[in-house]
Amino acid sequence: AKENNVLFVIFGGSGDLAHRKLYPGLFQLYLKGSLDQHFAVIGTARRPWTHDYFRQGIVSQLSKGTDEQKAAFVSHFYYQSHDVKDSEHYVALKKIIDQLDEKYQLNGNRIFYMAMAPDLFGTIAQHLKSENLLSDRGYDRLIIEKPFGHDYPSAHALNQAIIETFDPDQVFRIDHYLGKEMIQNIPYLRFGNPFLSAIWNNKFIDNIQITLAESLGVEERAGYYETAGALRDMVQNHIMQIIAMLTFPKPEHYTDREINQSKAQVFASLPVYSEAEVAEKFVRGQYGAGSDQQQLAYRDEDKTDPQSNVETFVAGEIDLDLPDWQGVPFYVRTGKRLATKNTRIDVVFKAEEHPLFTEQTPTSPVLTIEVEPESGVLLQINGKKIGTSNFIESHQLSDLLDDDQQELVPDAYERLLLEAVLGKQGNFAQWEGMAGSWHFVDAIRAAWAKEFQPEFPNYESGSMGPKAATDLLAKTGRHWLYQG
Ligand code: NAD
Repeated sequence: AKENNVLFVIFGGSGDLAHRKLYPGLFQLYLKGSLDQHFAVIGTARRPWTHDYFRQGIVSQLSKGTDEQKAAFVSHFYYQSHDVKDSEHYVALKKIIDQLDEKYQLNGNRIFYMAMAPDLFGTIAQHLKSENLLSDRGYDRLIIEKPFGHDYPSAHALNQAIIETFDPDQVFRIDHYLGKEMIQNIPYLRFGNPFLSAIWNNKFIDNIQITLAESLGVEERAGYYETAGALRDMVQNHIMQIIAMLTFPKPEHYTDREINQSKAQVFASLPVYSEAEVAEKFVRGQYGAGSDQQQLAYRDEDKTDPQSNVETFVAGEIDLDLPDWQGVPFYVRTGKRLATKNTRIDVVFKAEEHPLFTEQTPTSPVLTIEVEPESGVLLQINGKKIGTSNFIESHQLSDLLDDDQQELVPDAYERLLLEAVLGKQGNFAQWEGMAGSWHFVDAIRAAWAKEFQPEFPNYESGSMGPKAATDLLAKTGRHWLYQG
């Protein structure tokens, strides 16, 4: 790969995200040559670390690569003790930025990565401008993590604070689901196969089911989770982005600009449900203990409120107001402590209306996109049952990645970091879409807030969620294809 000249400044450089995702992602880019001689990374956080201590901590997180490669890689890393609220500290940071720019010939290209609590993003962005840390020659880009606000007003305020300093095309809002191989594959399936393009609409599709199931509970993140819940944590961002990938109208060209314009149409078509619609279309849940009592109920976890009404599960129906998708429910569900960890999409096609093979009803054909932990595409289609009868039965065509192929799949952060370095916005969340998605989520939260106490806990750890989630589909004669 061609080398890129660039400086990364990581705010929150001592944190979990930086160590688990960002540094390993950058290392992969280094091993593949996208980063080589002319890059540098400054990690900042409040602790007084030395460069050496910082580098050792990074090396210990790297897999693959030789010791020499790791040592050469981390020699590009520098640590700067920095309190993001202290203007003086930006003066010191500017100094090291300028030094490294010269030392590594970075051409003034800068990526500022916000790997810390979102309430500090605005402060950082403002200081970067007021203290002159922005480049006068190369590019300046800002990468931002979730959560991007906790409702529309806070997201809007955050966005305002950022765009005071950065132009919209300099802001890269990470949604790591958009960095997953099988999510990026969706447009290739949709637009690379004319026969699929032809049926990718409400004439042939009955419903689409999106499942983001986690088997873990809240773990150490209860403090954050208590302020979030599944709807904000997973639906507002990841599930909405997946829906956009599944439905964005075919752009004329596959460019970042046109892709994002097309996705914006999807987000603009999101409904704002009334209270009655929320009651009909959305259900929530919170995990109780497991049937074997081996796992704690959410309310008994460390740092949760014993009376907490935070949802650890949500399922719902999303209807898009787009010509191709009128009448096609998007059933979404996500939760913690479910039976398995699995991310998948089931596109359920309509069954034959006038079956010729009367001895058995044909089932609905289904295209399944397995995102994780397995990755690939499955097609369930009808065929003849072997033998002399006239039975029709379901067959499965399967194209799952094997171990060798999985080896080739880049981690989401590796891929998205590279796309940010290349200035490619197509797989980053755009503000307009985020706004639409927050309006959708806020209406649901507002309706829930009016409800008397939800009857939590309402699902067992290790199940596939509350009964209400099954009923949600059953009332229209449908069911969740994936049963855990
Ligand atoms: P963390 O608590 O491990 O790290 C936070 C970092 O910010 C630390 O380096 C800390 O020293 C630094 N920091 C805090 N206050 C500071 C201040 N005033 N001045 C300077 N530095 C300060 O958090 P994390 O898990 O790495 O998450 C970082 C961000 O990424 C958060 O917005 C989080 O929501 C988001 N995120 C994290 C993950 C993950 O897997 N960890 C996943 C998705 C999103």
